[in-house]
Amino acid sequence: MEWWESISEDMLRQHFRAIGHIGLNPKTNGYTRPSYSPLESDALNYFREYARCLGLEAFPDEMCNLIIIKRGKTSARKIIIGSHCDSVANGGNYDGTAGVAAGISILEAIQDAGVTPELDIQVMGLRAEESQWFGTTYIGSRGALGLLTPEDLEKRRKDSGTTLKEYLLNMGVDTDALRRGVPTIPKENVECYIEAHIEQHTALLEKGVPVGIVTAIRGNKRHREIEFRGEYAHSGATPMDKRQDAVLAFAETAEKMDVQCRKYNEQELDLVFAFGEAHTDSNLHGITKVPGYFRAVLDIRSTHRQTLNDFYEFFRNVAGVACRRRNVELNLEGFFESQPAVMDEKIVSSLARAAGEIGVPYHYMISGAGHDAAVFANAGIPSTMVFFRHNGISHSPKEEFEYESGVLGTKAIAKLIDSYC
Ligand SMILES: [Zn+2]
Repeated sequence: MEWWESISEDMLRQHFRAIGHIGLNPKTNGYTRPSYSPLESDALNYFREYARCLGLEAFPDEMCNLIIIKRGKTSARKIIIGSHCDSVANGGNYDGTAGVAAGISILEAIQDAGVTPELDIQVMGLRAEESQWFGTTYIGSRGALGLLTPEDLEKRRKDSGTTLKEYLLNMGVDTDALRRGVPTIPKENVECYIEAHIEQHTALLEKGVPVGIVTAIRGNKRHREIEFRGEYAHSGATPMDKRQDAVLAFAETAEKMDVQCRKYNEQELDLVFAFGEAHTDSNLHGITKVPGYFRAVLDIRSTHRQTLNDFYEFFRNVAGVACRRRNVELNLEGFFESQPAVMDEKIVSSLARAAGEIGVPYHYMISGAGHDAAVFANAGIPSTMVFFRHNGISHSPKEEFEYESGVLGTKAIAKLIDSYC
């Protein structure tokens, strides 16, 4: 029997059971594990103790990310298997944690078989991946790679109002080192980064394939605050050419973007966008009024950097033109972005080969959602992701885990690692 064949449903299940109370709201069955909260720490501490019981080194790094190491014959290079342990508010038990459970199951199988790999295998439980809490993503991975900015450190957590810097200082982190951009992972020592995650959509379900191998991760450009400021007026008495209609300025912008986005898609350029919140002011609007105010948020995503940049410029242009024509003021605030990432061709094909060798059916796909793997890839570390098929629902108490695909996907990663054993 090969060492990776011992990876089982029970191995994965025990972890979800053990952390199944952390951040659980029994009323909604949802999980809330805010970034840098004691609940996120509880989940990471569970994995740390489990790893120590396996006889592995397990300790926090300078960002308080969890590091678990199986030492290889040479420690000059390492393979990293990572994912996160925070969650959105009222999310599920598996988003993020499935990747850590997969990584630790691989190490458990290696330990059980007494195998010593050629290089170090490092599992990372990353902090603060979800953007909901600090309004910025990938904090743990960016910090580990020396990519956090001084502005990031001043960001406040939405629920508590406490800054990231204060959280880090309270946990004993040297924030001056972060400010200087000192990486804790020398990237030249990393052979590759692999992240396992539930798919968060239904493509694998629809295809009837248990495992996805990710070739690219969409980046995004977002505004948390877009205001169209016109003028309220009588909707019967005011002539059309005298109006400053904020809704029509927004509608014209949205419609032009929709047409343009479809043109990109027809050319097979990856692009999606949404105005996830869009509304007038309910205290002031009314059926007999020309709407003088409109607010929206915007999320544009693409796997292609140029497309993302071009479409964002297109948005600014059409919004500007629509607003000038209608004498409406446009305010764009709360901008933030993350870069798209192309997964490494060599590691993608190695993973596909490994899956093929052990009969794991897989499907190449892009990730619409952002993941820490994007940070590793953009830092120049060869990276890819494995997606587990599940019920397709995520960031929700209805999120489920499919053990069959979890085991197959984890074994595919293990088989790849086997080529370094
Ligand atoms: Zn996630």
